Amino acid sequence: METKLITIPKQKRIALIAHDNMKLEMLSWCQNNFDIIKKHKLFATGTTGHLLEQELKTPITKLISGPLGGDQQIGALLTEQKIDMIVFFWDPFEPMPHDPDVKALLRVAAAWNVAVACNRTTADFMLSSPLIDTEHTISIPDYDAYLSKRLNTLPN
Ligand code: PGA
Repeated sequence: METKLITIPKQKRIALIAHDNMKLEMLSWCQNNFDIIKKHKLFATGTTGHLLEQELKTPITKLISGPLGGDQQIGALLTEQKIDMIVFFWDPFEPMPHDPDVKALLRVAAAWNVAVACNRTTADFMLSSPLIDTEHTISIPDYDAYLSKRLNTLPN
């Protein structure tokens, strides 16, 4: 895969997602780190977003609820370089009706080299990185090169 460099902004676009059994953990993590996260642009799946907005009294761009496609919306945004980081507290102990969407989001985040924290410890490391408050250059798939190669190799 050919890649190219892009610069992600100082003010990060952070997606927050928590499964039901993890919502209190997410709220507590956001409260503990509010002074940091309030400087960034927050996005969330529907229920997580409503809960956090209500408790934190800060604006959050709320997408559709996860089981109805919210995880996929976040996946779509990151392919357009509109999400820089994801904090996704998925529940390791309960199967979900939308498990395929969870897997799809994690796959597409790996493909586009987007930072993902799936538990509190990783999320703490991510927020305490000096990169949280600076522009940062990352490598992502070069879509134009990918597309032109594919178009050139299609059978006539
Ligand atoms: P929710 O979705 O924030 O709407 O609960 C989260 C999820 O289950 O992916």
